Amino acid sequence: MDDAMKVLIAEEQLREGVRRIAQQIQQRYQGRPLTVVGVLTSSLVFLSDLIRQLDIPLRVELIPARAGARNGGRPGPLVINLDLLAPDVRDRDVLVVDDIFDTGHTVWELIPQLDELGPNSVRTAVLLRKQGRRAVPVEPDFVGFDIADVFVVGYGIDYADRYRNLPYVAVLEDAELGRGSKP
Ligand code: 5GP
Ligand code: MG
Repeated sequence: MDDAMKVLIAEEQLREGVRRIAQQIQQRYQGRPLTVVGVLTSSLVFLSDLIRQLDIPLRVELIPARAGARNGGRPGPLVINLDLLAPDVRDRDVLVVDDIFDTGHTVWELIPQLDELGPNSVRTAVLLRKQGRRAVPVEPDFVGFDIADVFVVGYGIDYADRYRNLPYVAVLEDAELGRGSKP
């Protein structure tokens, strides 16, 4: 399968990008305790690399958030489950960690829901941000890499349950899209 994969961000570049984001996060929070909220499942690899670069007290929480039922090829409303979140987010700084900021709808819907829990602040860190795609009036606070509007996989990001375990970020060519979804 990997013959068709076009590497967009290599392992060493990812390491540097994650280190850079971690430094920015550390400067921002100045040692204050942080609650890192990973959006499952595709933020998993980024999240685990990121927290190992953070030298501040932190708690990690995970929330499932995925597009709901598909409708005419477009993802339906976002399904966010905050039940797993510890109730004492109150008075802590919250950092949402996600894989890709595309239209921004995920972040846009998540922030007010987290805000209702009464934290000090809610900010967002994403590994990738797609150029020219934003459809909401909010930008992520910390961004690893700005990329073109291409379909990416790898480094935790899947397509039809494949490619999540690639150690780099690759572009999935049009020819590959639509293939491989059926077992
Ligand atoms: P947004 O809510 O910002 O439009 O979309 C964010 C989510 O859409 C990402 O967290 C990711 O799950 C999915 N997504 C957006 N672009 C891509 C892509 O290029 N590849 C994959 N596999 N998922 C994507
Ligand atoms: Mg996602």
